[in-house]
Amino acid sequence: SNLLSERILNMSTSATLAMAAKARELKAEGKDIIGLSLGEPDFNTPDFIKDAAKEAIDQNYNSYSPVDGYADLKTAIIGKFKRDNHLDYTPSQIVVSTGAKQSLANVAMAVINPGDEVILPAPYWVSYSEIVKLAEGVPVEVATTIENDFKITPEQLEAAITPKTKMLWYSSPCNPSGTVYSKEELEALAAVLRKYPEIIVVSDEIYEHINFKGGHHSMASCEGMYDRTVTVNGVSKAYAMTGWRIGYIGAPEKIARACNKVQGQITSGANCIAQRATIAALEAPVSEIRYMIDKFHERRDLVLELLQEIPGFKLNVPEGAFYVFPDISDFFGKTIKGKTINNASDLSMLLLEEAHVATVTGEAFGSPNCIRISYAASEAELKEAIKRIKEVLS
Ligand code: PLP
Repeated sequence: SNLLSERILNMSTSATLAMAAKARELKAEGKDIIGLSLGEPDFNTPDFIKDAAKEAIDQNYNSYSPVDGYADLKTAIIGKFKRDNHLDYTPSQIVVSTGAKQSLANVAMAVINPGDEVILPAPYWVSYSEIVKLAEGVPVEVATTIENDFKITPEQLEAAITPKTKMLWYSSPCNPSGTVYSKEELEALAAVLRKYPEIIVVSDEIYEHINFKGGHHSMASCEGMYDRTVTVNGVSKAYAMTGWRIGYIGAPEKIARACNKVQGQITSGANCIAQRATIAALEAPVSEIRYMIDKFHERRDLVLELLQEIPGFKLNVPEGAFYVFPDISDFFGKTIKGKTINNASDLSMLLLEEAHVATVTGEAFGSPNCIRISYAASEAELKEAIKRIKEVLS
């Protein structure tokens, strides 16, 4: 029974991946499952990026790369931070990793001591709490509501701070809620943080470009925050490159060097071909990927319009990413198709088994009243999925 470490026994399996596995299982049994559980664009990687990768292979990029990334990729990242975020970084502040997931894990390993508290506005992305626990930190969830567009207020932030608080960690645009913090809202949070100079912020901006209202803001550009904010980004989402596995950070040099140290002992430099392809992605004008963002925007509107017709789904208007996160607590206590719905997991499972639509329970994201529906799927699939959901629930 003690074969496995307590560390791993205390860790949850990624609920999004678990749902995808369950959906695959039912699919293998011949069921017509529509998968709306994964956070993955349904586009192909743009051709100009694929071409750069092919060229890199032919140019014999096959050796170990520097642990923290190729120098010219770092230059491209520095250019991107300047162009999109008005942030100035030097090469020693940049670390390229195997996906933003590794970037986040590096930061946690580099700065969290056992018992350190990490404030996670909920809903938060599934892996945050598990990465914090792996680093022996303590996740401190702060609940938000759909009425407030799932945003944490400055008062809530201040109330959650204790002498043990090491970090505030969030994503904007947010996975799973699609919430985008405005400049003013971030400045208000920064005003609280300025009173606590020892707190580090992890700002996960991987959905930056998938933003339908425009105006992305980085915590690092708020007054007094640059020297203690780690800005995390990557190419998985906006460039449809989930499998290429490239993420990166811009950070205070001390933290970046510590991440470099962690990565140097665990995985070394990220895949060399994917790094070359990422240079092409980041150097291209953002207009090159506009067609995907426009499509997500159309689908967001479609999904909201269709879901509004289902009684019991409380919705807000997510302004970014590619998820809707309805509050479905109206169904709690009801029995549908012989199954009693006590929580979001029950509803998500009912939708999988009866409507053959895969979603993810909000419990995985620290929001037990909601479910996450990804609209990174075709219009036809979205329409069919919501029709089935409606039929099962009414
Ligand atoms: N951060 C957020 C908020 C995400 O949703 C994801 C992917 O689902 C990641 C980070 C990880 O991205 P990557 O594929 O680059 O590891």
